[in-house]
Amino acid sequence: MTADDSVRPLPPRPSRAEAEAAVRTLIRWAGDDPGREGLIGTPERVARAYEEFFAGYDQDPVEVLARTFEETDGYDEIVLLRDIRLESHCEHHMVPIIGKVHVAYLPDRRVVGISKLARVVDIYARRLQIQEKLTAQIANAIEEVLQPKGVAVVIEAAHQCMTTRGIRKPGVTMVTSRMLGGFRDDPATRREVMALIHGSRG
Ligand SMILES: [Zn+2]
Repeated sequence: MTADDSVRPLPPRPSRAEAEAAVRTLIRWAGDDPGREGLIGTPERVARAYEEFFAGYDQDPVEVLARTFEETDGYDEIVLLRDIRLESHCEHHMVPIIGKVHVAYLPDRRVVGISKLARVVDIYARRLQIQEKLTAQIANAIEEVLQPKGVAVVIEAAHQCMTTRGIRKPGVTMVTSRMLGGFRDDPATRREVMALIHGSRG
């Protein structure tokens, strides 16, 4: 239906008290005492942190993009927003995914403020994610609303579930990309955007 799969009906949210009780359970599971002084306020702080980490569930990226765009006056070259800071959480382990997002599109009559592109990244990032889905969701939302001649989204990120646990490979980053329209069909256009993304970083 849309690029946004959060439209599926969800069971009602638990109360804040239930969320805090769940954190106390996890503290006990980790082997500590949720009643000791240093941990007394922790469940409340974790619940509040979750409100920030996962604020994207209450926001609609399509709406953010659709609210304002402008006519291009004939500008039809690549628009690239490079090195957008990515902070997300992997849906398998609920630990951070930290990296960079590059978003490019080839305008067709419409351009959108660059802050809007960054907000779309944030909205999808502030949900439980896998990097492949995040990459596709950002590209699809831009495609759906702006209907540009092409969209390219490239994400480079480190997954703490890989760097601090499991196989423990610090320094490894994962790179994903989604290319639509001209970036998918025209090798020269694809090369151009990849060169811009990896180009000189004065
Ligand atoms: Zn993970």
